[in-house]
Amino acid sequence: MTDLKSLLPEELEPVVSELGQPRFRAGQIFKWLHSGVASFDEMTDLPRALREALKERYTIYTPKAVRKQVSKQDGTIKYLWELKDGSCVESVVMRYEHGNTVCISSQVGCRTGCRFCASTIGGLVRNLEPSEMVDQVLFSQIDSGLKISNIVLMGIGEPLDNFDNVMKFLRLVSHPKGMGIGMRHISLSTCGLVEKVDKLAENQLQLTLSVSLHAPDDETRSAIMPINRAYGVEKLLDACSQYFRKTGRRISFEYAMIRGVNDTRAHAERLAEKLAGTHSHVNLILLNNVEESPFKPSTPQSLKAFVSILRQRGINVTVRRRLGGDIDASCGQLRRKAAKE
Ligand code: SAH
Repeated sequence: MTDLKSLLPEELEPVVSELGQPRFRAGQIFKWLHSGVASFDEMTDLPRALREALKERYTIYTPKAVRKQVSKQDGTIKYLWELKDGSCVESVVMRYEHGNTVCISSQVGCRTGCRFCASTIGGLVRNLEPSEMVDQVLFSQIDSGLKISNIVLMGIGEPLDNFDNVMKFLRLVSHPKGMGIGMRHISLSTCGLVEKVDKLAENQLQLTLSVSLHAPDDETRSAIMPINRAYGVEKLLDACSQYFRKTGRRISFEYAMIRGVNDTRAHAERLAEKLAGTHSHVNLILLNNVEESPFKPSTPQSLKAFVSILRQRGINVTVRRRLGGDIDASCGQLRRKAAKE
């Protein structure tokens, strides 16, 4: 069955035409769907006959929050959503001074196999539909009562491995008749699928691209991110420079500090060397403990030393504040826990 919430207003036009209705109805239906209605009956400005006709042909799905955890420390909210097929994904609402941000999932599971990540244990189950990504933003906002102004695609899944649906999601969520969240308020995080980074560059979107680098050399990176065997650090960084040249948007590199694995002075020196002159930004994160993983977060001393080496070399670096530490807020963990129980 056609999933109406994954369609843009112009794509809804044939749907209403087929039912003998004028085109402007498409815009009305889009607006209702993207305000989170659960049934066609709520679309009160549509003629009754049209509502009935839609009801006969289509279904509106809404995700069910099967778990909700609220951090006592900082108000971070984590949701586990159950989708129409019983699959579950997570979203996290974070409250920042610059606005409320939701971190959403792009796939059920993930096939990239990063060894420190909870989302990839068990592999990929399926891609999310565009509407299922919209729903995470929409229902996080509705349930929490917090106006969402920013989105990060940093939850479960590899967004560029679900390229077409993610592109469609971006068009839906930024549409002025829908949630209207502009590209400059959206970040997309990738493990660095090079062809897809190239393809994204062609789209010239104003979003922020975050690349999960986590190591400056092939030996270290391949040991923690199997995907690196396909492209290698050199190729990835080339694609990133190309991306910056084409879009004018600076890349943000994610770097999870893992004790004794990627956090030595030598790693910092090498990273600074590789990123010199790229105008990029490094976002350091202390590794979150994942039960199934052998890796541990770096010590505060190695984190400090790493930061100061990068700063000395003129690299723009920040250490990400940890939110929701008391609710396992790093994505993938809640889904794992629920699956085990
Ligand atoms: N697949 C995408 C987006 C999802 S993960 C990507 O790889 O970027 C979002 C970020 O969290 C990535 O930078 C990922 O490497 C990081 N991450 C995964 N597990 C982590 C953990 N245990 N501790 C800290 N960061 C983690």
